[in-house]
Amino acid sequence: MAKFRRRGRKGRRTKEMVQIARERIEILFELAEKAALSGKLERANRYVHLARKIGMRYNVRVPKRYRMYYCRKCDSFLLPGVTADYRLNNGKITVRCRNCGNIYRHPYIKEKKGIIQER
Ligand SMILES: [Zn+2]
Repeated sequence: MAKFRRRGRKGRRTKEMVQIARERIEILFELAEKAALSGKLERANRYVHLARKIGMRYNVRVPKRYRMYYCRKCDSFLLPGVTADYRLNNGKITVRCRNCGNIYRHPYIKEKKGIIQER
């Protein structure tokens, strides 16, 4: 992984770089999901953390479909039933991070499929 430099905060961010950042974030979330599903939670959290760092640096937001799978407070990967409790009520999804107890509410989006299927 390339090292992050602190200086030049507003440095050139070419479209290509932003594109690459976006792809990396996707990949990191995929890895985080895989790691979490195989019980490597710490690793999953690290991937989330890295993805967010990249996002901040390049001003790239986490893709919508991953947005409810991490905790914005402690960077935990939120795996339903393992690191987080998911509840559906009144067309809202309530997610509670088991690590820090933070609660998120998301409007229920009729997305085809979340990255994590209900078991
Ligand atoms: Zn948390």
